[in-house]
Amino acid sequence: MFPEYDVIVVGAGHAGCEAAAAAANMGSKTLLVTMNMQTIAQMSCNPAMGGIAKGQIVREIDAMGGYSGIITDLSMIQFRMLNRSKGPAMWSPRAQSDRMVFATKWREMLEQTPNLDFYQDMVKGLLIKDNRACGIITGLGHEIKAKAVVLTNGTFLNGIIHIGEKQFGGGRVAEKAATGITEQLVALGFDSDRLKTGTPPRVDGRSLDYSKMEVQEGDDDIVGFSFSDTKKLRQKSNVAAG
Ligand SMILES: Cc1cc2nc3c(=O)[nH]c(=O)nc-3n(C[C@H](O)[C@H](O)[C@H](O)COP(=O)(O)OP(=O)(O)OC[C@H]3O[C@@H](n4cnc5c(N)ncnc54)[C@H](O)[C@@H]3O)c2cc1C
Repeated sequence: MFPEYDVIVVGAGHAGCEAAAAAANMGSKTLLVTMNMQTIAQMSCNPAMGGIAKGQIVREIDAMGGYSGIITDLSMIQFRMLNRSKGPAMWSPRAQSDRMVFATKWREMLEQTPNLDFYQDMVKGLLIKDNRACGIITGLGHEIKAKAVVLTNGTFLNGIIHIGEKQFGGGRVAEKAATGITEQLVALGFDSDRLKTGTPPRVDGRSLDYSKMEVQEGDDDIVGFSFSDTKKLRQKSNVAAG
């Protein structure tokens, strides 16, 4: 039997991981439910964090105790402060991370977070009482109660993948789309619309002639994202940066 939770977070992408960590660190008994525990914090597309706007957001989240900045610093293989030629207000940190290390570090951080449970299942709907969400219903038929439910389903709700002329359902390549929640939200009076993401084709690095390309080095002086001392953590976890 499941206990009643203070907060249930649906989806363990970056948004869900931050939401679950924040709720649990504030003392809420939290459950993070996700379709596949092996893809916690998976970097969907380009394994990069930051850039203009997102770089600032990651640092703001870090200042409020979030983990994205710390984990980016622990998993980075290159760091650049973009727009150095402009004034400091325009500077934007951007890191390329090791995709595997990034996901592993996130999972480790979450597993060390008190008040946080994990459960692998697809959430098919919300429990609603007096017009308020009070829990979830999973694909296996479990009803789990909570005082609040946070939906961070990313690209999965009724997701469609377009490749050339072909279209098929999916949240990410080789991962199922999540069904049920959108229909229920629409029935409750919410609007639903589509947001399109795009991704470039993947190429085989062995087929590229690197002599024709310009090397773009990372910064020698790595400022990083987090305001915590991640240099020490990096040494401890043996991840080389730069
Ligand atoms: C092919 C591709 C290319 C992309 N390219 C870019 C890009 O170039 N730039 C950019 O900014 N963004 C891009 N994105 C978008 C990127 O995925 C999002 O910005 C980011 O991953 C969103 O994070 P998230 O935590 O909100 O959701 P996601 O990373 O999508 O994670 C959602 C999580 O929720 C889980 N989940 C969803 N529904 C359920 C459910 N019902 N029950 C249980 N678990 C559930 C999933 O398994 C997943 O773990 C791309 C996405 C894809 C798929």
